[in-house]
Amino acid sequence: MQNWQDQRVCVNCFEDDGIKQFIKKNADSNGCYFCETKSQKPIATCLFWSEYHL
Ligand SMILES: [Zn+2]
Repeated sequence: MQNWQDQRVCVNCFEDDGIKQFIKKNADSNGCYFCETKSQKPIATCLFWSEYHL
């Protein structure tokens, strides 16, 4: 079973501006678990502790 609490997601995976803002502000990972986007700088974060639970 996947430990989904630790999965990072990027802004490309969401339409909602509020979520995008949160991800940009808290980005701490260079890769997205869902769309597998990779970047040189942090583009993804874990939403588990935010108000936007997956
Ligand atoms: Zn993504």
